[in-house]
Formats: sequence, structure tokens, C-alpha cells
Amino acid sequence: MTWLDLPESTGFGITNLPYGIFVTEPSGTPRTGVAIGDHVLDLAGVTGDPVHATGSLNAFMAEGPESWASTRSMITEWLTDPAHQQRVTPHLLPIDSVTLRMPFEVADYVDFYSSRDHAENLGRMFRPGSPALTPNWKHLPIGYHGRAGTVQLSGTPVTRPQGQYLTDGTPAFGPSRRLDIEAEVGFVVGVPSELGTPVPLHDFPSYVFGVCLVNDWSARDLQAWEYVPLGPFLGKSFLTSVSPWVVPLAALSAAVVKPPARDEPLLPYLDDTDAAWGLDLSMEVRLNGSIVSRPPFRGMYWTAAQQLAHMTVNGASLRTGDLYASGTVSGPAPDERGSLIELSWNGAEPLTLPDGSTRTFLHDGDEVTITATAPAPDGSTLSFGHVTGRIHPAPGAPVSD
Ligand code: CA
Repeated sequence: MTWLDLPESTGFGITNLPYGIFVTEPSGTPRTGVAIGDHVLDLAGVTGDPVHATGSLNAFMAEGPESWASTRSMITEWLTDPAHQQRVTPHLLPIDSVTLRMPFEVADYVDFYSSRDHAENLGRMFRPGSPALTPNWKHLPIGYHGRAGTVQLSGTPVTRPQGQYLTDGTPAFGPSRRLDIEAEVGFVVGVPSELGTPVPLHDFPSYVFGVCLVNDWSARDLQAWEYVPLGPFLGKSFLTSVSPWVVPLAALSAAVVKPPARDEPLLPYLDDTDAAWGLDLSMEVRLNGSIVSRPPFRGMYWTAAQQLAHMTVNGASLRTGDLYASGTVSGPAPDERGSLIELSWNGAEPLTLPDGSTRTFLHDGDEVTITATAPAPDGSTLSFGHVTGRIHPAPGAPVSD
């Protein structure tokens, strides 16, 4: 298909073409790039369009779906028609020779809670004897507004947060002892919307530019003490990591699936009978290099289109760069759970790693990497790259469990 010599299984084939921001030297101008095989196509260089030299994807994302489509089709033609080879080749850089930067400026950040298995697991742990799901769960995608300023690029050190937690029923202060991950999928808004005007579910592909991976780092002990009655706060806001490549929605046509059957009727604004936006992403979570979970995204109860409709139904407006995350992705099987609190069942069933050590929650020095793939239209597999982070000790004495 392409005249480029693509190595096997990078997941960055001609039908993927994810966007990112890169520099070739620390003081260089950040530019927009497109991953292809083990190379990055310098879009600023090859197009001469200043929108690709702004240092983030925001200006390009704001141009809207017609521009996204024409740019994608132009890049596809350049990389497939040998007539363009001579002109394009100077703008192809080895991916290992560039440094990736944060791909977009995060406007607002919303985090949902849309995996039924995850919500039921947490409900069973924290509200034993009560129904696993709260009464609202099957009627609306539950979410909260997070802290946009602490959404950072993959690889940003994860400094163990400090805060208040309960110990023997008494509030104490110190480094979190229950630092956790949440494997999630993020959706990046390109086109803004008018204040007061909801965005209907069917308009999802007109507003959302693409998809990235998210690790919503979570301090469970801080969270457990602070979250009633207003929800997550400092237990989440210290850091959220995102992957450097944003896979455009247009690359995911072969990954669109019907979401699971819903067992409560949906209100009309959430009824997705004619606009099913389940996505068949297969995720993997590695702890210090070992796979500890394989969360299946296709089973998510609420889709990104429903989440978008819900978060604007009150008239809240969208801004270019808004990021909303799916919520922890967990499947029904024990090895499909997207957080350590589920994998270790609230600490009662420690994981054993190949080096013989055990984990309930994260130790200082641990590294967590989340990857994902999806079916591509040409029958290959496309990759979302990865989001990774290593735990650094809290200021002061390191702790372990
Ligand atoms: Ca989350």
C-alpha cells in the first residue's frame, strides 16, 4: 500500500496515521507529526501550513471534520503514491530521533465511570450488602470534572501524593499507601460548541477528533476519606497521564461495535439505537513489564457518544482540547480488571509478579504501561502506542506497603 518500507507490527500502518507533537532538539519548534511505521512525518515541513507548527494539535483540531478528512486523505495519498516519494521523504524522521511532547492543550477534563464491571466491583467492595450499582448508574453516564492542568504526557514522573487518610478511624497525613492506576480511554474534542446548545449523540464524530490512552492515577486512601459527598478530589488531581499519539476517529471505522444490551430503557437523548459507538479496543496493562490485565473496551456500557451527549445536555459548552475519559475499563474476568484495587480485591488478594514480589498497590520505583490495539479497515491491527509512568517517592521518606 505504501511505498515506505514498514517494519512488521508497529501498529502504525497506513490506515492508522495518529497525530502527535514532536521536537527534534530540546530548543526546537514543536511541530505536528504523523506516525507511520517507525517514522514520523513532519506535517509542518511537508505541508508548509503554520497550523502544524503551533506546538499543539488544538488549532488543527478546531478546523473541524472537513479539514481532518482532507488532511488525512492528502497524507494517505502522499504515502501511497510513489509520485510523491521524492518530495515527502525528506520530511520523514526516524521515530527514535524525535522527542514527543504533550499532543494537545487540555481545556476541560471530565472523567466518567462507564464500565459496568468496574462499577459493580467497586460497589461490592465499598457497599457490601447493598446493590452493586447505584440507582442512577444505568440511566446516565456518571462522571466528574477533573483537573485539566495536571493532565500530562506519558512518561511524566508520578510523584506519590501526600494527603489525608484514615488510619484506625483517625485522620492522618502522609504519603498515600494505596496508590493505584486506572486504565482508561480518552476522547479529545476538536470543535467547540455554543453555550446553551446541547450536542446530540449523533453529532459525536463532528466534534470529537480522536482517541488516546489515559492512566487516571488514583490514591485510594485519600479518595476513600474525601469523596463523600462531592466525589473525587485530591485523590485523583495530582496527575493524569495521556499517550502521545491521538488516533483520529476516522481510523477506527473497523473498530466500531454495538455496545452491550442495556437492561433499562434510555431517555431519548441517550438512545443510541441508530448511532452505536462501542469501540473494539483491546487494552493491556503492564506492571514492571509483566502483563497484569487485559481490559476489553468493547464491553463498556456507556459509549463516548453518549458521554458527549450527556455532558452537554444541560447546555455546557465544549472547548477545543476538552478531554473526557471513559472511566476505568474492566471486563468480567478477574484478569480483565483495569485497576489494582480490583485486581487485588481491595488488597485482600495480592498479585504475584514474575520476580516473586507481591503487590496490592504501587511501590516506589514501579512502572505501569498501558497499551491498546484495535482492528484496522485493511485487516491489520492498529496501535494506540502507550501511556507509561514510574512512581517516584513522596517528598520525605519513601513508603511501601
Ligand atoms: Ca477514573
